[in-house]
Amino acid sequence: MEVLRRKVALTLGQKQGPLEEYKAEPAQEIYGSLVFNDVAQRKFLSKDIYKKLRSTTLSGEPLDASIADQVAQGMKEWALSHGASHYTHWFIPMTGLTAEKHDTFLEPGSDGAALAEFDGKTLIKGEPDASSFPSGGTRSTFEARGYTTWDPTSPAFIQKEVNGATLTIPTAFVSYTEEALDFKIPLLRSIEALSTQAIRLLRIFGNKSTKRVFTTMGPEQEYFLIDRNYFELRPDLIACGRTLFGAHPYRGQELEDHYFGAIRERILAYMMDLDRELWRLGIPAKTRHNEVAPAQFELAPIFEKSSIAADHNMIVMELLRRVALRHGLVCLLHEKPFAGINGNGKHNNWSMATNEGENLLDPGHTPHENAQFLTFLVAVIAAVDKYAELLRISVSGPGNDHRLGANEAPPAIISVFLGEQLEDIVNQLEKGKVSSSRKGGILELEIPTLPPLPKDSTDRNRTSPFAFTGNKFEFRAVGSTAPIYWPNTVLNTIVAESIDRIASELEKGKGDLKPLADILMKEIKEHKKVLFSGNGYSSEWHEEARKRGLPNLKTTVDCLTVMPKKEYRELFKRYKVLSGKEYESREEIMWERYVKILNIEANATVDIARNQILPVVLSYQNKLASTIQATQSVVEVHQRGQVALLEKLVEEASQLYEAVQSLDKSIEKANQFSSLHQMAAAFKDGVIPEMDKVRKIVDGLEEQIDDALWPLPKYREMLFQY
Ligand code: ADP
Ligand code: MG
Repeated sequence: MEVLRRKVALTLGQKQGPLEEYKAEPAQEIYGSLVFNDVAQRKFLSKDIYKKLRSTTLSGEPLDASIADQVAQGMKEWALSHGASHYTHWFIPMTGLTAEKHDTFLEPGSDGAALAEFDGKTLIKGEPDASSFPSGGTRSTFEARGYTTWDPTSPAFIQKEVNGATLTIPTAFVSYTEEALDFKIPLLRSIEALSTQAIRLLRIFGNKSTKRVFTTMGPEQEYFLIDRNYFELRPDLIACGRTLFGAHPYRGQELEDHYFGAIRERILAYMMDLDRELWRLGIPAKTRHNEVAPAQFELAPIFEKSSIAADHNMIVMELLRRVALRHGLVCLLHEKPFAGINGNGKHNNWSMATNEGENLLDPGHTPHENAQFLTFLVAVIAAVDKYAELLRISVSGPGNDHRLGANEAPPAIISVFLGEQLEDIVNQLEKGKVSSSRKGGILELEIPTLPPLPKDSTDRNRTSPFAFTGNKFEFRAVGSTAPIYWPNTVLNTIVAESIDRIASELEKGKGDLKPLADILMKEIKEHKKVLFSGNGYSSEWHEEARKRGLPNLKTTVDCLTVMPKKEYRELFKRYKVLSGKEYESREEIMWERYVKILNIEANATVDIARNQILPVVLSYQNKLASTIQATQSVVEVHQRGQVALLEKLVEEASQLYEAVQSLDKSIEKANQFSSLHQMAAAFKDGVIPEMDKVRKIVDGLEEQIDDALWPLPKYREMLFQY
């Protein structure tokens, strides 16, 4: 009997016609058409209301509540013009996914005909049942009240589906007791904190005009695509998003022929479709290409303000999955869908910019600009060094545990790459070359004697978790599934603290730049241990990092163990990003998530091994035994190879049985603990090694057993046949 797996191959590659007539609606015309953007606001709001709303969205001024009704009215008219029948408050609970609950605009009027209703109150506030969202112990299930409140800084948009459209309003999610229950609120607060501190510093540099500083972000999103027919035959992919089994294929990524290769027709059709969906939503999808691993791809947008970029990345992840189904594909966003080849990351490009459009990490043309640039640069370096653990925590999770440190992604040790030239300048600053004539302010910093600051003049270093790339930092340790709100919340907060410290030092004097050189020298002395330009994959670096005293938190459990440190909790409190309770709740949620995910993966391993693999192994064993017996009845020979094969199989089937039993017991044991911390430790130290054992045996069997019997699509099929 031929297994389903093999039949799938015959249905692959069936040509799909164009999904839409793209020439009829050229890209530049559809861009932003489903967003309540400037164009739509001008058209559907009065001039006065438009101006008031715009001052909130652009400069982050507090929302004028009195305009809510008129904005709601305009928004509704706009949505109806797109055929919307429903609206929803869209938010980012701490599940890692977005949440929405749809309500219709329609209400029966007195004459029985429907009216479309939507007012300011409904726009501003929603009340979903909060009890089923993770709150990390800040509330119990009977305290169900939670509110979604309109976030006017992120524009409303329309989700258009085959049979209708929904007005979607980005919101923040808070509890009745005003704790943030989402990822959005802390990010907004952290931007506020950073803005306050950065402006203080800018004022010292003589800048009187900047009103706000924003953080900017451009997340490069990696993903895999496989044929949906294969996906449906892999219960591990369905339940866990990653393969729990699968022998390494005889061809993996060693030929290095996929990266930037010509994009297959079927994939390009998907990417075109996806890009157009994103453009309609005003998401600036820019770059698409094949990634290193077979069947792996990347999408990079143009950077935006962090909070909008974070919302947009959530939509990107959702649409990557959704659009794939239309093309008979499934998008795998997990950090490590396949063992033995590269996993998925999300390079988080980050910078700071003023409301006037000045990028604060852009090396300037004048000495004065350069001094300002170097100050912000040093602030970031100091922050990354001082709070390396927090940054590492912000990207931790069971998915990323497979990636960080696996010589494909940056190591778990957080270090900063500046490039040779810039590192040299920083070293000069530290050595006090600038100390000779440090008298009359900025020009005496002797910064003019420094070589021109580099722009793209140094090589890239792909192994660094935190690399300066010309005019921004690239935080490369972020996992592909991560909602980027949290890593950026941490980044903004720790940089705010650094800037605060430097500004305070400067203000201790006359509030001018005289002490700057000394301050920078001190900062560099203290924090230069985080600078590293070498190969982050090498074992020498691990040894060197240990000597330098850099933390090396290898797993999520290691991360979560240091998360409760008082200085971390206090940091978020001081900058009003998270209250103590909110910080602890995040910690609790991360523990909980770790345990739940591992529990699912471990149970899936048991189930698949027991119910799909073992029966097949036994069938093959039976087939072999019968073959040997039947042969024996005809010819009198010693079937050396056949018997050896059978013996080996019998032995491995027994080993598999025992390994599964033992895994099952370890899961049970882990579940007996009542504390999450103990449970997590039991999964990490007790269950994961047992899962690895089972996998090793199964992968060995996959390589021996009749290909026609193997129930699970193989790596060589999923990764190459699409
Ligand atoms: P690569 O990292 O491959 O060199 P690019 O230089 O094109 O790629 O940039 C990668 C990402 O960095 C893009 O999403 C881009 O929009 C983003 N980016 C560029 N400048 C900034 C900035 N000032 N702040 C945040 N992100 C930025
Ligand atoms: Mg990059």
